[in-house]
Amino acid sequence: MITGICYGIVASTKTRVRCVFCGVYIPKASKCIEEHINGAKHKENMELVYENGISYDSSRGLYCKLCATSFEGSIVQHLEMDDHANYIATLEDLTDGEYIHVDAFLAGQTDVAFCSTCQVTIPCTLHNIEAHVNEDFHIMETLKPLNGLFSVDNPLELWCKVCDVYIDNTTPGVLEHSEDDDHHVNWFKKMEPYTANNGISIGNYLTHEFENKVYCLRCKAEILCNTESIDYHIQTDAHMSAEPHHSEISDLQIPPD
Ligand SMILES: [Zn+2]
Ligand SMILES: [Zn+2]
Ligand SMILES: [Zn+2]
Ligand SMILES: [Zn+2]
Ligand SMILES: [Zn+2]
Repeated sequence: MITGICYGIVASTKTRVRCVFCGVYIPKASKCIEEHINGAKHKENMELVYENGISYDSSRGLYCKLCATSFEGSIVQHLEMDDHANYIATLEDLTDGEYIHVDAFLAGQTDVAFCSTCQVTIPCTLHNIEAHVNEDFHIMETLKPLNGLFSVDNPLELWCKVCDVYIDNTTPGVLEHSEDDDHHVNWFKKMEPYTANNGISIGNYLTHEFENKVYCLRCKAEILCNTESIDYHIQTDAHMSAEPHHSEISDLQIPPD
């Protein structure tokens, strides 16, 4: 018989078990329990549990670790409460585009978030995450791969692949170059129509020091990274007749301005 808290099924009476996440009683027979666990409603609830820091134990009952509170009634009802909804919205805001992973935290597997940019764990509170995304080191490490900046032998410098110049390896140095340097900013402006409307991805080019090609997401083809080659490619029949890639409606490949 499938019981256990990972399914939400706990013993209730001699003849019935209870699904704590759906708030229903089920006859104590393997077939009925299996049917419930495989049902759409239960799966939906389990997804909500894993995405929202919800858990159950016999002493606390249903518990939300985001709100640090036990609750009764339906999970959906709890998720709609202001405190909980605001927490999730703020968490999404803070982690969006920052490479901070909170999935395992929300699923109850850990109490930390992980920043894959800085390769560090962060005790997962809104306050800590906000502090982390504002740290100099995090800002710099996030900007480097978006701007084609690489470490060099001299720890005081970074190399900009786009401009082939050396810049100060400091947060102001990185910010100034990526936001104010004419050559640098113009290169990204020049690339924008290709990345935004033509399915040309420059991410791999920017993050790999020796890569000299960009990638066409429409044609799954590599193209030398210069405007003549890209212009030539986007006018080929193959490219023009290919389906636009879904990235073409987003601006994910363009560094923040
Ligand atoms: Zn259920
Ligand atoms: Zn909550
Ligand atoms: Zn970080
Ligand atoms: Zn540059
Ligand atoms: Zn193409």
